[in-house]
Amino acid sequence: PPRGLRVRASAPILSETGSHFDYLVIGGGSGGIASARRAAAHGAKVAVVERERLGGTCVNVGCVPKKVMFNTGSMMQFLHQAKGYGFDIGEIKFSWPEIKRRRDDYVKRLNGIYANNLGNSGVTFIKGEAKFTGPKEVEVGGVKYSGDNVLIAVGGKPAAPDIPGVELALDSNGFFELEELPAKVVVVGSGYIAVELAGILQILGSEVELLIRGDRPLKNMESMVTDQLVLEMKEEGVQFVKGELAEIKEEDGKKTLTLKSGEVKKGYDLVLLAIGRVPVTDSLNLAAAGIDTTQAGHICVDKAARTSAEGVYAVGDVIGTGVDLTPTAIAAGRLLSDRLFAGLPEEETCMDYEMVPTVVFSHPPLAVVGLTEAQAIERYGADDVTVHKTTFVNMQYVREVLAEGQYQPKTMAKLVCVGAEQRIVGLHMIGLAVDEILQGFAVAIKMGATKADFDSVVAIHPTSAEELVTIP
Ligand code: FAD
Ligand code: NDP
Repeated sequence: PPRGLRVRASAPILSETGSHFDYLVIGGGSGGIASARRAAAHGAKVAVVERERLGGTCVNVGCVPKKVMFNTGSMMQFLHQAKGYGFDIGEIKFSWPEIKRRRDDYVKRLNGIYANNLGNSGVTFIKGEAKFTGPKEVEVGGVKYSGDNVLIAVGGKPAAPDIPGVELALDSNGFFELEELPAKVVVVGSGYIAVELAGILQILGSEVELLIRGDRPLKNMESMVTDQLVLEMKEEGVQFVKGELAEIKEEDGKKTLTLKSGEVKKGYDLVLLAIGRVPVTDSLNLAAAGIDTTQAGHICVDKAARTSAEGVYAVGDVIGTGVDLTPTAIAAGRLLSDRLFAGLPEEETCMDYEMVPTVVFSHPPLAVVGLTEAQAIERYGADDVTVHKTTFVNMQYVREVLAEGQYQPKTMAKLVCVGAEQRIVGLHMIGLAVDEILQGFAVAIKMGATKADFDSVVAIHPTSAEELVTIP
């Protein structure tokens, strides 16, 4: 084990005192690790139980390897445009196995860093699967551990449709195991993961269809930006197909889909499912601890992350806030530890799930915070809502430097404001670099910035971000 890390491999011989902690955290992902380390920093005796690799979904099969692949796609787009900037780079050759190897190495290094960080924080790492045997007591590999306080941060897993042949498909976990770039792919779903992975595969050379059951992807986001996303993904070559999957079969080494309409579609090398995620509470034996769940299986919590069992808390994807993101799990976990172990009051330590900025790492990326125009009208009434929009071409794509035949991408932004003072309650963007632009603007918006505040800031020229402070 890394230096400083106390590992309990659930050996059956453990003293009673050694197995009791101030804080017992189940799940070594984004929320669990952050909460555990914060608690240890406040002086608590802490253990984390993790059954797989440290870092959880984000590090192993989520944000991190996904962002590497997003960057790979962006690199390919730059290379295709390079000619427009005067470069003669010849034929572009791309090796999927090469980037997979490097990506896996990076993730492995991060696993080590997470283990080191736990050790350096004085947190005990218990390797194995936790199962409740009573209130505030779990069993891991035949050994019992207990805590004065217990945190459940076990996250989620990909949802699978209940259809014949589902085992012939891969989900996002399987995507990260692909050894080769598949030639013909159908991605099923219309959320973050579907548009991100469909875009990456298409840009890197697969022929991709995106099968959506509704009218458009990312249906809860501002249509101005999602319509532009669809347009630009189509320019990149992604084909949008409407329909719902009913069955998958294997024929001559290829996958055949039957849709609910009866339509049959043949010849896919990969069927990739991305239809949402479900909490992973099934292995926990929650009944033994008296912990209530919703019908969908999420753990019920109040605004202070308390479950129905005294002294047991839950944060992250397992509580299903609708903002299932790494930074929300981390923030909720840390706030909880600040309350439990540093005595901060409840009113300062309840996670605020409103105004959480988020980016969809599609090509081009989407960056949003706050309410859409429709949501603002619903909350404040049409008379109180004003919007300001801008559409422009990022200087990287001005006509003179486009490669021959290259589509000219647009950047778009919409500000949603309320009241006479035009307080900004929503910002929705699409285009190159908006993923990096949003964070700072989100600070201003969360602080209550108005349109006039934006207009009062001198622009940084020439950038895309300046357009947000110069919208008429
Ligand atoms: P997790 O990180 O899932 O951690 C839970 C841990 O608990 C896991 O390691 C699991 O093995 C362990 N566990 C489960 N049951 C037990 C048990 N019984 N005993 C012991 N251990 C157990 N979010 C972003 O903010 N940005 C992104 O770009 C982004 N991209 C994503 C891309 C993909 C493909 C996916 C799938 C997700 C992405 N997310 C992204 C979401 C993000 O990964 C999650 O919101 C985040 O990881 C949730 O953290 P968590 O602590 O709730 O759970
Ligand atoms: P999402 O919840 O984002 O989207 C899933 C969508 O799939 C649903 O909204 C639904 O859309 C559609 N769907 C549901 N069931 C079916 C079905 N049976 N057949 C066809 N379509 C179906 O889920 P994802 O799996 O994409 O991602 C899970 C979460 O992970 C995200 O919500 C996000 O919180 C997080 N994440 C964050 C990322 C980031 O920060 N960049 C990246 C990836 C994930 P409809 O009803 O319109 O059909």
